[in-house]
Amino acid sequence: MRKWAVAISCLIAACGGTPPESQSTGGAPAPSPLGPPSPGGFAACPGLAEAGSCTVAGKPGIKVCAAGTVICATTVVSLTFDDALAQQLSAAAVLEKHGMRGTFFLNTWRLRTSNVENMTAAQAKGLQDRGHEIGGHTLDHPHLTTLSSDQQHVEICNDRANLISLGFDVQNFAYPFGDWNASVRQAVADCRYNSARDITGLTAEIAAETFVPKDALVLRAPRSVQRTDSVADLEALVTRAEGAGGWVLFTFHHICDGCATNGIRPDDLDGFLGWLEQRAKQGTGTARVRDVIGGSTQPAVTWP
Ligand SMILES: [Zn+2]
Repeated sequence: MRKWAVAISCLIAACGGTPPESQSTGGAPAPSPLGPPSPGGFAACPGLAEAGSCTVAGKPGIKVCAAGTVICATTVVSLTFDDALAQQLSAAAVLEKHGMRGTFFLNTWRLRTSNVENMTAAQAKGLQDRGHEIGGHTLDHPHLTTLSSDQQHVEICNDRANLISLGFDVQNFAYPFGDWNASVRQAVADCRYNSARDITGLTAEIAAETFVPKDALVLRAPRSVQRTDSVADLEALVTRAEGAGGWVLFTFHHICDGCATNGIRPDDLDGFLGWLEQRAKQGTGTARVRDVIGGSTQPAVTWP
């Protein structure tokens, strides 16, 4: 347990000093299509398309598909992947093996740059067709706070417009480097995103985001998963959140054995998700960001 406590404090070390807040009750995710069923996936949960809020013994939850059945999950884990890396296609297959779907935040420049490291638009379309969510992550992955308001809008709005024109249903955003300020946050709103994921905000007192977030445009989350994180470290973040319940958004980048500091070994991802799948018994399930945030897809905004 002591090792886990150390691991948790390490994972939330970059957190700001957000004060504790009371847990909101309820939650109002809009119905969202899940895509066609797949062998390891959602065929066993046909009712999930009508998912919504629920409660268990007074604790708020979200209806999700877990271990092949619909449960009221009072702890929900979102598995998010940044930067449109081709390696993440193998991660998607691991998710599907465990009946899970993730959220992939893509940069336009990677889709446009033919390179062994980058996902192609056709591959991303395949992810969406299999029920994964596609979100936005700017055109070029800049440090947004170093840009003018106009440039921020170009990076955020035109990336979203590009993704929509490619056929993606883009509702949610993730800040590159977790770098944002009031101006960047406003640009995210102006570009008609429903939410934006940060990579900080959890503290010793706050183990999870709430299902109705304090600020949907700054979703609180653990820092990005690092090569030095063990499977037990990731599990500890979930079990800690299970205390009061809530929403834990994991951020992954590279999927490889030692290729990057912000990587996870494929076997470790598989091990973590296998463990996570079994947490249905504790009322824990997984969902895409859009399943928790809800709302509809707003029109694309193009910035001149
Ligand atoms: Zn990124």
